[in-house]
Amino acid sequence: MTSSQSERQQTEERCAIAAIGRKCFGCGVCACICPRALLSIRLNKDGFFMPRATNEPQCIHCNLCLSVCPCTDDHPETPEDRIPPEAWSAESRRESVRDASAAGGIARELAEEWTARGGKVCEAVFNPRENVLEHLVLQTPEELLRGCGAKYLQSYTLPGFSHLNGHEPFLVIGTPCQIDGLRRYLRKRHWENHFVLVDFFCRGVPSMRLWLKFSRFYRKKRQSLQDVAWQEKTDGKNEDRIVFTGTDGRKTAAGTRRNELFFGFYRDDLCLAPACYDLCKYKAAASAADLRLGEFRSPDPQNRTGTSGSVLVLTERGKLALENTAGRLKRKRRTLDELLAGQMTGNAVRPRDNAVFRLFLRSAMPLNLMLKWKQWTRLLLYFPQELLRRCRRRN
Ligand code: SF4
Ligand code: SF4
Ligand code: SF4
Repeated sequence: MTSSQSERQQTEERCAIAAIGRKCFGCGVCACICPRALLSIRLNKDGFFMPRATNEPQCIHCNLCLSVCPCTDDHPETPEDRIPPEAWSAESRRESVRDASAAGGIARELAEEWTARGGKVCEAVFNPRENVLEHLVLQTPEELLRGCGAKYLQSYTLPGFSHLNGHEPFLVIGTPCQIDGLRRYLRKRHWENHFVLVDFFCRGVPSMRLWLKFSRFYRKKRQSLQDVAWQEKTDGKNEDRIVFTGTDGRKTAAGTRRNELFFGFYRDDLCLAPACYDLCKYKAAASAADLRLGEFRSPDPQNRTGTSGSVLVLTERGKLALENTAGRLKRKRRTLDELLAGQMTGNAVRPRDNAVFRLFLRSAMPLNLMLKWKQWTRLLLYFPQELLRRCRRRN
């Protein structure tokens, strides 16, 4: 066989989904739909979930995986019962729920109401054994408690998504790209009518390599991790602060400097998934979900409580789910502009040193050295530019 013949044969043998490559959002629905169960979702070398074919020659080239992939389209999938967006600020009536949750506890109240009516919830919870965030199907109040709070990791969706079905009502909460993939999957299966899909204003997901490096310090000290929270309530406001809880119930909060070893890289957009920089099509009201949630930042600084959330109602089904939960929430109608103020409206800008940082993450370099490197490069790369800009503005 000539080399061109063997190349052609290899290309023909490859699953169609291999063409997606680094554009992948990691939603996992290609693996859920493959009739041959050939696809598994694994972390790639940069620490992001993407599909890998376990036995490519068995691929029957049905292209079902591509047909549900959200990367193949320039826009989010449009739900059939789409309505002009309705904007609300809202928060739970229960202080305990507001304290334990992000964005006013709206997601928790929606989930509790949904399960009280006999439905099931699929959302991301932290798996302490694997040190990973994963989607699971939840139903009892104790299970729902595990889903509370902001979580700054990309989730592994298969443990939850593979248990969805077309005969039970499900409320699914995920990132906008995960929900877009799921919408396409449900439509293909004709299951859409049993589901309410909820996403949130998303600024991007960091590499799992950052998390694994960061969490090593805790795991070295104590092996038995039970839970992790990424936000803590300080003076009534949610602060980004990582708190580890051991199986003995003891909490270890990362100090300000150690916190910086995670949030310092995340907030500077140094370690986001490639798609978050170049391909995200889910900002503002662009969504395949029925409801979109987020923090609400009042335009009036005097009224900023730090506990209120925002809800964007995008479909009739979303509207009904919110109406059913109305008794649990204090809410107020807002304009779309009020709701979007303070949210990211464009994609994260890829820093010039992103490629170097990816290499560092793959290496054994400790995070404190990487932080020093970041501070120096910020000084050398960006400070002269900033100075020049200010001088020009003054002239
Ligand atoms: S083309 Fe069909 S058989 Fe091949 S990986 Fe995709 S879904 Fe599976
Ligand atoms: S369906 Fe989802 S996981 Fe699969 S290739 Fe597309 S974006 Fe990636
Ligand atoms: S920023 Fe966009 S691409 Fe990145 S995780 Fe969020 S929704 Fe997905």
